[in-house]
Amino acid sequence: MPTSRPALSYDVFVVPEKRAKAPPPRVGDPPAWDPITSTLIFGARDAVLVDALMTVREATALADWIELHDRRLTTIYITHGHGDHYSGLPVVLDRFPDARAVATAGTVEQMRNGSATAHPYRAWFPGQIAETIPLAEPLDAGHFELEGRPLEVIETGHTDTVDSTSLYVPDLGLIVSGDVAYNHCHIYVGATTADGRAEWIAALDKLAALHPAAVVTGHKDPTQGNPPSVVAESRGYIEYYGKLREAALTDEGLFDAMVSRYPDWVSRQQSLILG
Ligand SMILES: [Zn+2]
Repeated sequence: MPTSRPALSYDVFVVPEKRAKAPPPRVGDPPAWDPITSTLIFGARDAVLVDALMTVREATALADWIELHDRRLTTIYITHGHGDHYSGLPVVLDRFPDARAVATAGTVEQMRNGSATAHPYRAWFPGQIAETIPLAEPLDAGHFELEGRPLEVIETGHTDTVDSTSLYVPDLGLIVSGDVAYNHCHIYVGATTADGRAEWIAALDKLAALHPAAVVTGHKDPTQGNPPSVVAESRGYIEYYGKLREAALTDEGLFDAMVSRYPDWVSRQQSLILG
């Protein structure tokens, strides 16, 4: 590797869990959205942001934090078409008008289909989410560059939504996983089928095969680091959940079994575990 070229670095912004205006659940914590991450990958001059958070307030704090890095934001990469990862786009683009928001064609399609409105985000967070959210532009290749270094899109298929992706930064051995892996945070498994879980596990195996040095997940316990072990942990969680589903437990039994198996994980949300 030529030593004259500066190495890349990364930094992670995590927004705390936020209470939602939603009916009380039958089980678990009061309704809330699990902590979300946004990752800045940067070189000597330029930076790429991965995911743009959800509420206007979060995206404003994110834009302030990006500014502190004194880099030119060239690109915002959206990992998948769930609104909690891109509804902050208009706020970030307003602050960094030269940045391009990009995603795979599949993610852009999810955004166009209004995946952000499939979930009642706006009802849960009234007045907190931008009225108009621009689409990302579809990437015409499975990779793009930051200061001449490659950033590789990993297509992961149907995980916590269809056409999901992760972003791999070979220079750093870094995977920014989006919602393919979670880090000590209950996983959105409630809507999965047996086939969907098998596809999700195959996606996690694809990430593991890259032997990453670090994995930043879309949702995490903010007290945790970004170790690669989250990939195997997420796999174990989805497998265990699948076994319980086959055992045909009651909803309460299924929920209790998951939170007792993972007592330290954040966001004991009915909406994640039971769908
Ligand atoms: Zn998410």
